[in-house]
Amino acid sequence: MARPYNFSAGPAAMPEAVLQQAAAEMLDWHGCGMGVMEMSHRGAAFGEILERAEHDLRTLLAIPDHFKVLFSQGGALAHNAIVPMNLAGRHPRRAIDVVVTGAWSQKSAQEAARYGDVHVAASGEPARFTAIPAPATWALRRDVAYVHLCSNETIHGVEFHTLPDLRALGCDAPLVIDFSSHVLSRPIDWSRVGLAFGGAQKNVGPAGLTLVIVREDLLGHALPICPSVFDYQRLAEAHSMANTPPTYAIYIAGLVFQWLLAQREGDRTGVAAMEARAIARAQRLYAAIDGSSLYVNEVEPAARSRMNIPFFLRGDDGKPLRDPSHPRNAAFLQGAQARGLLQLKGHKSVGGMRASLYNAMPMAGVEALVEYLRDFERGA
Ligand SMILES: *Cc1c(COP(=O)(O)O)cnc(C)c1O
Repeated sequence: MARPYNFSAGPAAMPEAVLQQAAAEMLDWHGCGMGVMEMSHRGAAFGEILERAEHDLRTLLAIPDHFKVLFSQGGALAHNAIVPMNLAGRHPRRAIDVVVTGAWSQKSAQEAARYGDVHVAASGEPARFTAIPAPATWALRRDVAYVHLCSNETIHGVEFHTLPDLRALGCDAPLVIDFSSHVLSRPIDWSRVGLAFGGAQKNVGPAGLTLVIVREDLLGHALPICPSVFDYQRLAEAHSMANTPPTYAIYIAGLVFQWLLAQREGDRTGVAAMEARAIARAQRLYAAIDGSSLYVNEVEPAARSRMNIPFFLRGDDGKPLRDPSHPRNAAFLQGAQARGLLQLKGHKSVGGMRASLYNAMPMAGVEALVEYLRDFERGA
């Protein structure tokens, strides 16, 4: 029996080959007589796992040498506090600008306000987060510790397809991005980024593990209230081992990195192959939604996410049925489940449906969903 297709926004589907390999190595990793969960983080075996994971991640994302890669913990929401604790001290008034394009950057702005002087430079809220305000209209302050944005808004399905060039906008501050839900699905222009962070559970591995990739010159400004194991400079000096790191999660992430490096799409490999697949999957699903009279996605085409696609069924009056408990929504989800199409229910703050198409989702899963959309529309 093939596994069902899992459209969860996170924790999300993993590449099946990675789960198989982890299962095979569960009791004995490479003949050392113990599983990865059981080994000392200071031992040679785990040292090898950590070093390879970092090396492979650097290769996949072409991370320049003057950036540190940190394997931290706490999830992206903990780092909404830990980032300002590390970077706000770069500015005498701890000034932080945030561009709010959805629920996650809104949360980041609220949390950062506990540690710094936060100014919302632009917000997509008046448009109900269906578009990204044009960078030329952002009210950036010139002199701030950093500018924060969420490069893929998982809940509202809005993605930056180009990162802003802050210098061209008259702002010399480093850009911080929360890339939790699209990391490794596209290349990153590091010349425009000072710090990138994200939880692992969307596109990388088990929940808890949190990636932080930070330009070296930004380190060394942690506020005294910052817990020392979350002081990015200390964490960098300790090679992510300021305390016991999430060893098993790092191991699984490492297997995902190896899987990604082995993926091919035409003459593309790794992240370039993932990007080609992501574009193909997203185009297929958006085309099916746009081409129907039952389904609707309200996001402006230029800002549509390749990873998270929220959509609504329409009611008999043609209006989107946002209420998850509407009988048509309930019937849709029940029928999907019966076909092995799992976790399509939208986020509670938006309602409707959401299909998350991360790296582990094969095109066949999207085809199965598109076929179901068509069949359900015929019967509706
Ligand atoms: C899932 C998600 C988060 C929350 O991550 P946690 O690990 O639950 O803290 C934050 N930001 C984005 C963009 C996300 O997709």
